Amino acid sequence: MQHKFCLSCSKELIGRTDKKFCDSHCRATFHNKNKPPHEYYILEINGILRKNRSILSSLSPEGKTTIRTSLIKSLGFNFNYFTNVFKTKTGTYYLCYDYGYLLLNNKGQEKMLIIKKQDYM
Ligand SMILES: [Zn+2]
Repeated sequence: MQHKFCLSCSKELIGRTDKKFCDSHCRATFHNKNKPPHEYYILEINGILRKNRSILSSLSPEGKTTIRTSLIKSLGFNFNYFTNVFKTKTGTYYLCYDYGYLLLNNKGQEKMLIIKKQDYM
């Protein structure tokens, strides 16, 4: 009988001879470790965008709110990352998936309008 070992944790595999891993956990660990570097970069950016989107949605549950930018900065919002832009006469909306914001500068007070993405955007 041929002995086979898990490619992830090196434990001996019991059962089917075509098995490469103990279970789905070992399979996922192995594939995560063997991702090319750009895949980690993509995951990292996706994480930032996901966080931005969740901050926007938590601050604007009704889909339209004006807040101070200092508040969103304190929550770790990253202004360098967004999924797309939508330009209007009043300014440029930066979108993170289905939420977006427009920076407002009222008498030196930095504020932003958070909106839910509309179909025309
Ligand atoms: Zn294993």
